[in-house]
Amino acid sequence: MDKMRIEADLHVHTVASGHAYSTVEEITREAAKLGLKMVALTDHGPALPGGAHPYHFWNLRIMPTELNGVQILKDIEANITNPDADLDLPADYLEALDIIIVGFHPKCGYESGPVEQNTAVLIKAMDNPLVDFIVHPGNAKFPIDPETLVDAALERGVPLEINNSSLLPTSSREAATIYDLQIIKLAKEKGLPLILSSDAHIYTHVGKVDKAVELLEKEGISSGQVLNTSVSTVLGYLARRRAQR
Ligand SMILES: [Zn+2]
Ligand SMILES: [Zn+2]
Repeated sequence: MDKMRIEADLHVHTVASGHAYSTVEEITREAAKLGLKMVALTDHGPALPGGAHPYHFWNLRIMPTELNGVQILKDIEANITNPDADLDLPADYLEALDIIIVGFHPKCGYESGPVEQNTAVLIKAMDNPLVDFIVHPGNAKFPIDPETLVDAALERGVPLEINNSSLLPTSSREAATIYDLQIIKLAKEKGLPLILSSDAHIYTHVGKVDKAVELLEKEGISSGQVLNTSVSTVLGYLARRRAQR
């Protein structure tokens, strides 16, 4: 079996995130070198200490849609600010973006609660038609119930991310491998689409999803179940999600 390859890295941070170290030029150049067709610039929302200012997202209109031959999606990794899963950017700013990804981060307003509560908060986030997918759901610092989450994602047609950075020894997310494996097993059993992302904070990590691929291949998940192995599948999904707004 050929090694699984992604065409789109849908989770990449630029210097605008405050704790990431590469420019759009460096990121797209690296993506082109690796043969990626698309990157999404997913800088952290304003609630994260050091995160980008709201004007950063507003002004993404001036960003070209392609650089170095790589298609650019204008994105945010938005933060959950309370148990109602409200996000840290106004709806009119969010609506102007190509894609919106959401996940738990400490110090952004919502701190981890009991498993049932964390799970319910992520489900509320998926109920928001502006949200395109949930990032790094496997994180022991914000424990969730994998089966409830996978069922809810399936019902809403929202993919879940397997985050490669979470699986590196340098990750701040605890026990991601254990949670991710549970999510992957359930996704395989129930047919939930997954997204593999680098969550790169420096250009050398762009397109790196090797740890995530290892887990998926161990469970026998094929490329067809991974949304971002094809740019046209990504664009098809985003168009369908927008039609639900
Ligand atoms: Zn994150
Ligand atoms: Zn991120």
